[in-house]
Amino acid sequence: MSNSTYDALKAKVGRRSFIKMAAVATASSAVSAFASNDGVTREATAEEVKNPFPGSKKVKTICTACSVGCGVIAEVQNGVWVRQEVAQDHPVSLGGHCCKGADMIDMVRSEVRLKHPMVKEKGQWKRLSWDEAYDRIAKKMKDLREKESPDSTMFLGSAKMSTEQAYYFRKFAAMYGTNNIDHQARI
Ligand code: SF4
Repeated sequence: MSNSTYDALKAKVGRRSFIKMAAVATASSAVSAFASNDGVTREATAEEVKNPFPGSKKVKTICTACSVGCGVIAEVQNGVWVRQEVAQDHPVSLGGHCCKGADMIDMVRSEVRLKHPMVKEKGQWKRLSWDEAYDRIAKKMKDLREKESPDSTMFLGSAKMSTEQAYYFRKFAAMYGTNNIDHQARI
C-alpha cells in the first residue's frame, strides 16, 4: 500500500482503529508465514484424522441444562473433555439433543464458567466456601423476611429439578411464608 493510501485510510478510520487494524494485519502475516514454513505445520496423518485424541476414554453422562437429561458421550483425554457425541442408546433422548446439549462441552470448558461461590466486596471478586455462601444467603433471607415481609421474596424453581427437589422447594417456600413460587421456564 502506498504512503498516500495509508494516510487516507488513517484519516478515514481514526488513529486508534488504524493502529488496531495494522496490528491485526501484522499478526495475520506472521501466522501466514508460520503456516507456509515447512516443519512448523504439517498435514495430519490418516491415523491422526481417525484418532485425534489417542488414549482418550468415552464417558457416558447427561446434559446438565434441563431436566430432560439427554444422553451425552463425553470423550476425555488426560482429564480434559475433548469431544462430545450424542448417546445413541440413551432411553430418553434416543440419540437426539437440542442446541444447548450439543454445546455442553463448551459450557463445561468455558473460561468464564463459575466453579465456586463468589462475592463482590469493595469492587473486588472474592471466593467463598459453600458454607460461607449458604450462611450469607440464609442471613439475607431472614433479614428480608423480618424487615420487609415473606412476600418480598420470590422463589424461582429450575428446569433441572427432579420431582422430589421440586417438592422440597415448594415446602421451603411455604415454610418461609410465601406463595411466591414459580418455575423458571414460565418466563
Ligand atoms: S439437550 Fe436440551 S432437551 Fe436435552 S437435557 Fe440438554 S437442554 Fe434439555
